[in-house]
Amino acid sequence: MGKIALQLKATLENVTNLRPVGEDFRWYLKMKCGNCGEISEKWQYIRLMDSVALKGGRGSASMVQKCKLCARENSIDILSSTIKAYNAEDNEKFKTIVEFECRGLEPVDFQPQAGFAADGVESGTVFSDINLQEKVRLGEPVRCSMVPGGNSFLR
Ligand SMILES: [Zn+2]
Repeated sequence: MGKIALQLKATLENVTNLRPVGEDFRWYLKMKCGNCGEISEKWQYIRLMDSVALKGGRGSASMVQKCKLCARENSIDILSSTIKAYNAEDNEKFKTIVEFECRGLEPVDFQPQAGFAADGVESGTVFSDINLQEKVRLGEPVRCSMVPGGNSFLR
């Protein structure tokens, strides 16, 4: 278990500093139960603004969820200090943009959706509310990967 990093690979054209915006940014993930291996069929999102206290005074997590199959109580936490922008110089390379502390809930897939912003390279213009899901649908090269562990994926 431990930490799982989400890596993004994209082709930015004339923009840089692609970043998730705000505490209410939704990280859409598919989660696997680390105990029994069950993978959720639905996309679930976690946000920085959500904080759930863990039992026994073990701090807090972004999401606490009981596995439907094995009933184990699992949690996952967004490590806010690890959130990084994807810049023009990162083009075509995988870069870690966030890490999650996983206590039983392991992300196995990520679906970038709305809520990103980026800056124009020359103009400095801020482009807000970029929806990466539309770009994926249009065939623009945006790819994500989870590392490390045996649950890497490419899309
Ligand atoms: Zn389970």
